[in-house]
Amino acid sequence: MEEKVLIFGHKNPDTDSICSSLVKEILDKKNGCNCSKAVRLGKVNKETQYVLDYLKIEAPELIEKVEEGTKVKLVDHNEFNQSVEGIEKAKILSVTDHHRIANFATSEPLYYMAKPYGCTSTILFEEFKKAGLKIDKTEAVLMLSAIISDTLLLKSPTTTDCDKKALEELAKIAEIDVNTYGLEMLKAGTDLNEFSAEELINLDAKNLEKDGKKFVIAQVNTVDINDALKRQNELESAINKEIEKNDLDLFVLAITDILNSNSEIIALGSKAKETISKAFGKELNDNRAFLEGVVSRKKQILPNIDANI
Ligand code: MN
Ligand code: MN
Repeated sequence: MEEKVLIFGHKNPDTDSICSSLVKEILDKKNGCNCSKAVRLGKVNKETQYVLDYLKIEAPELIEKVEEGTKVKLVDHNEFNQSVEGIEKAKILSVTDHHRIANFATSEPLYYMAKPYGCTSTILFEEFKKAGLKIDKTEAVLMLSAIISDTLLLKSPTTTDCDKKALEELAKIAEIDVNTYGLEMLKAGTDLNEFSAEELINLDAKNLEKDGKKFVIAQVNTVDINDALKRQNELESAINKEIEKNDLDLFVLAITDILNSNSEIIALGSKAKETISKAFGKELNDNRAFLEGVVSRKKQILPNIDANI
């Protein structure tokens, strides 16, 4: 039997990580590479489940770690601290990503496709085009869902003209009204009630490191910031536990209002006050700050914190 090549996105997978790994598997197969297999590194969130239910398809298989020498293809991430356990000793064949490149190294040559787009699926969409491959309905829904998720329906400042073009074309293939479908999909991801505080702060959390300082930026989407803040006390104790457990200097939880494109952050840790003040020119009040017009971790939150921690 041919050796499997595992395709996966980052830990705490979002819709782009799940959909892009599924699409990458299909793209590989259409290119004659039959050994590719999409897998995932964590629980499927509710927004992504909405997409899978819409398409009536199963989530990729969950994996916990990879053995030495396992062939892998990364999508939607490159940093090892956001990847699978054992990644350092895996054989990375390719990366398809739209994030900064950091904490990444390989001992062998590889394919590396990085574009500063709003979504990995936009890069994959262009790969279909380049190869002259037809995109069918399922693939179109997977890719357009990822684009809607990552760009918050094209409202995030990470959105590029390429994302807009891809979404428009994919919507035609999928025969979907993007705004109706997209809002339903995004809203499915804002139903946070059944999650414990601990689950909530880890739903979409990224582990980061700068000059030996460890920090986490987590994000949850909501349609009502005040509703989410009713759980502030509970969220803070979960965050403080996480800080203690992982020896973190800073934990930022961004609660993002997807309708009005703002975020309220809760920031805790020894570096919280100073870093947030320098990064955003805002003083924490009750461990919180309101960041008007801020929705993108990648473009608006992470770079500012990274430069000021
Ligand atoms: Mn992602
Ligand atoms: Mn992405």
